[in-house]
Order: sequence, then structure tokens, then C-alpha cells
Amino acid sequence: MDHKILGSGLGGNERNSLDELLDTLPAEDAGAIRGWLSPEVGGPQGLLGVLSKVQDDVRRPDPEDSDKVQRIGVIGGGTAGYLTALALKAQRPWLDVTLVESKSIPIIGVGEATVSWFVMFLHHFLGLDPDELYAKVQPTWKLGIRFDWGPDPDGFMGPFDWSGDAVGIRGSIAETGNINAATLGSLLMGADKAAVYDTPDGPRSLMKYLPFAYHLDNALFVRYLTEAAQARGVEHVEAQIADVALSDADWVDHLTTADGRRLEFDLYVDCTGFRSTLLEKSVGSKFVSYADTLFTDSAVTGNVSHGGHIMPYTRATTMNSGWCWGIPTRDENHHGYVYSSAFISDDRAAEELAKRHPGISEPKIVRFRSGRHEQMWRGNVCAIGNSYAFVEPLESTGLLMISIEALTLVSSLPASWREPNVREVVNAGIAQHWDAIRWLLGIHYRYNTRLETPFWKECVSATDVSGFAPLLDVYANGAPLTRRNPVLQDLLNRLAPSYFGLFGIEYLLLGQQVPTRLLPLAEPIEDWRRRKQSADLLVAHSLPTRQALEAFDRYPELNRQLLQDEDSWAGPAIAARLGFC
Ligand code: FAD
Repeated sequence: MDHKILGSGLGGNERNSLDELLDTLPAEDAGAIRGWLSPEVGGPQGLLGVLSKVQDDVRRPDPEDSDKVQRIGVIGGGTAGYLTALALKAQRPWLDVTLVESKSIPIIGVGEATVSWFVMFLHHFLGLDPDELYAKVQPTWKLGIRFDWGPDPDGFMGPFDWSGDAVGIRGSIAETGNINAATLGSLLMGADKAAVYDTPDGPRSLMKYLPFAYHLDNALFVRYLTEAAQARGVEHVEAQIADVALSDADWVDHLTTADGRRLEFDLYVDCTGFRSTLLEKSVGSKFVSYADTLFTDSAVTGNVSHGGHIMPYTRATTMNSGWCWGIPTRDENHHGYVYSSAFISDDRAAEELAKRHPGISEPKIVRFRSGRHEQMWRGNVCAIGNSYAFVEPLESTGLLMISIEALTLVSSLPASWREPNVREVVNAGIAQHWDAIRWLLGIHYRYNTRLETPFWKECVSATDVSGFAPLLDVYANGAPLTRRNPVLQDLLNRLAPSYFGLFGIEYLLLGQQVPTRLLPLAEPIEDWRRRKQSADLLVAHSLPTRQALEAFDRYPELNRQLLQDEDSWAGPAIAARLGFC
């Protein structure tokens, strides 16, 4: 673009082509045009893009409207139920939101590793106070996932600052043979540290430049959400839903509880977990299984002391018939061996877990199924959480997708059922997102050559990754994908529309050393070495994770910087761009 022609000549000394044109027009006409293309709209650049203002599309229900959407029943009190109720109250405080849960049906009680988007969702969209969260839930930090995976005995890092590429992925591969020196986050993960510094003037933090997520102790987190919902006016009903009465094939009229109460709402949000009591069992949205891609169906979990050493990442370790997560809380590590019951029994899985983590607590078994339903929203039933979709926890997608689903529901909720509704666009968009996650998880299994057990042989030979086949061809043809030409990248992004994007995909493929033609480095390797040396210095001066967390506990201004500074990855500018505020 020629900046001389389109430059800000109206405000500065430089005259532009609009000035030159206006000089030739009658003064009155020139004045009127100048009034429109004023410096406030960027002068002549205003022609390129100023959107006219409209009222935002949030409408309040009309009390006189017999079809208004005013009473929302959220059925289920797991993380999906509470996060959805809080989201509705935070963004549409005029709604009557009731959460119904049954004490006799326990919540799933796992779900502790998150992604960096979730930090913004909690604080910007739900408006939860970080000081309160730190005091009550005691989160630890996740700079990314450390994979004991693929042919390299050191495994590989999947850091959240991958899109920054601050040190350089291509140089990391050229110099070290792996991707583990590509970003500051990866280097900190390798040293078990976080970007917080002890200085004579008090702690200093660079965490606002380093995207990270929370690890959340599930029991503490659910208790905290329960209290927050009460404080914000979510009505709570303790009851088991025994019957769902329909007035039409996809329209719920009312619910009947086991003790005979009748509950009636305008919209029913199904958060009943894998039971999917309303979406699947009542309005009949069919289940679409991902079993051809994801063979695991069970997990055995347990906790073990970490002796005070807190890792700044989630660990994913290859096991004989699946993989094991390691998630640090402040006091202990939480582990779970995710396995396929077709390849190992529960008892043998528990033994393998205990052998890897001596001293682990009594094993607990969790069953699940990976897949989604055909629709997330049918009639006056919208499902959020496991009741709609779930994939095994390799990339911590549970809480991520609950937050995306809740954000989507809140943003597209009509004020009246008479309005043309947006259900189908919600259904198509969220289904695409889940399907992209299915293929993303599939490439963890298809290409992991670390073990040659029957389970892993089956994964390498039979995992269905067909949804990513065209993208995998492009990868084989040249990587990193995020350095291919912009037209190709745009097409690839359409094939893989998930939170993880092309960066997430290429880290997995390069980390597992899936064959490709590497694009040549376009800078002297000395430039990369200089950046790496500087990053190493930042790491050397950083605090171990426990001390860094304690600095955030003690100095609330560090969280203020993270969430309020305009130049932060979690600040208001990015939050506004994501539609959080
Ligand atoms: P649930 O927790 O099952 O809650 C269901 C609720 O519905 C309960 O309150 C129950 O009482 C209520 N209910 C059911 N039927 C009725 C009825 N008839 N009447 C009244 N109430 C009813 N996600 C992550 O983000 N990170 C992770 O690290 C992670 N790890 C996971 C590991 C495993 C092994 C599994 C299985 C999941 C993991 N997840 C993870 C996913 C995450 O745990 C879930 O997505 C999340 O907890 C949502 O659960 P939910 O609220 O949908 O369902």
C-alpha cells in the first residue's frame, strides 16, 4: 500500500491525494467531504474501513412476551453446570438462572489441567477475582505440556508461547535436533522455573508476556464455583430429575423430580455429564463416536506427594496401553493413566501406574467415551460439557470447550423464541471445532513411536486421522506449517479450525519427528544462538515455580499487571478482541 497516497496528511504536514483533490472542488463541497473524512476516521483511510455503529445485539426479554427466554434451568452441578450458570449471570444478569443438581449422582471429579484461554475466560468473561481464586483454589501454572512421547528419549515440549517463537523453532531443530529450545516457555519448562524474578526492589514478573494456564485442584475449584454462583444470585435446587416431559419432539415442557416437584424453564441447559439426560435421552440428538481415532475409554487416577517440587507444566507420559498425566497441585502431583480396556485390565493398569509412581494413593477408575452429539442445541435444549461432547484428556480440552460452549450460548441466546434463531450456526461451528480436536488428538496416537506394545502398534497402524490427511500432505511437503505462504496457511486453518491452530499441530508433528522437508533457515545460525544465550540468561535468573507462585500469592499487583496491562497476553485489549468484554 502506498503510504504517501493514504498517509495521515490531514493531521500532519504532508499533503495527500485527498487534499489535492479537495483543493480543486468548490469550498462548500470540500468542507463537507473533509468533515466526513476527518482525522478521527483516519482521513482518506476512512474509505478503507470504518464500520457504522450499531447497538450491540444483546436484547432483554419483554415481560409481556409469552415466548420470552427468561427462565434458564441449568441441569447438573459439575464444572459445566457451574461455569455455564456463572457465564449467564455475568453477561445477562437479568436472567433467572436456576442450577439443579443431584447429590446422589456424583460429578466426574477430574479435569484439572487447562489452557491459557481459560485464564482469560475466568477473569474477563466470568469476572472472577484472581486474588480470591489464588486464595481459595491455589492454582499452579502450566506453561505447556511436556511430552514423554516420540522417538527422542528427552521427549518434547508443547509450550503455550509457541506462536511467539521468540527464540526460533527452525534454529532449535538446526542446532539441537529437537524443538525444545524454540521459546522461553520451553526453556523454562526444561528448568522447572517461571518468569518471575527476585530483585532488591521486590518481585518482578514477565508472566504477562508468557501465555500460561492454570492447574486447578478439582475439588477446590468446584467448591469455589459453587460459592461464586450462590453469591451471584444463581438459584440452587437439589433434586434428581426423574422425568422429562416433551410438548414437541425437540421441546421440553417441564421436568419432574424424583420427589415429585415440577420444574419449568424457558431454556434447559443439559449439563448432566455422560448421562446426557436431556439432549440424548429426551430430545434425541444422536451420538457421533470418535472411537476410530481415540481408542482409550478408561482412566485410573491417584495422587502422590511431590516433596515441594512443583513442575510448571502438565506431563504426558507414554504408557504400555495409553498414557499417564502428571498435574501438580501445591502439595502433590495428581496422576491418571488413560488406557484402552481392550488392551489392559483395570487391575493391571493400576499396577502399572503404581509402579511408575510409588506411594500413589488408592486407585479410582473413571470410564468415558470420546465423541460428540449431532447437535449441541436442539429445540429449547442446549447441552454443555460431557453431555454434548468429550474427548480423552490429552490436550486438556474439557474445560476449554465448556468455556467456548458457554461463551457461544451466552452470545447467541435469543430474548424470545419468536426471533429467527442461530441454533444451526452454533451446532455447525462447535461440531467443527470438536472434530478438529479429534484429528489433533489422533496425530498424538498415529505417530508416537516410543513403545512397541500391542496397543501402540495398533495406534500407529489403525488410528483414523483422515480429517487431517490433506494437512498432513502439506506438512510432509514442507514445515514449519506456520512459515508456509499465507494463502496456503489460510487454507490449512480452514481444515483445522480449533483453539490449537497450526502452531499446535506443527509442534506435535515436529516434536514426534514425523518426516518432513524442513524449510531452510533464512538467517545465520549465530543470530539464533545469540537469542538462545539471552533466553538462557533469563531462565538462569528466574525463580523456581513454587517461589514464583508464592510471589503471586503475596503481591496481588503481579496479577493486576497480567490482567490489566494493555501489552499483556491476558490483558483487556486481547480480551475485547476475543469478545470477552
Ligand atoms: P459431571 O461432572 O459428570 O457433572 C454432571 C452433573 O449432572 C452432576 O452434578 C450430577 O449430579 C448431575 N446430574 C446428572 N444426572 C442428573 C439428574 N438426573 N438429575 C439431576 N442432576 C443430574 N478437562 C480438562 O479441561 N482438563 C483435564 O485435565 C481433564 N481431565 C480429565 C480426565 C478424565 C479421565 C476425564 C474423564 C475427563 C477429564 N476432563 C478434563 C474433562 C472434565 O472433567 C469434564 O469435561 C468436566 O468435568 C465436565 O463435566 P460435566 O460437568 O459435564 O459432568
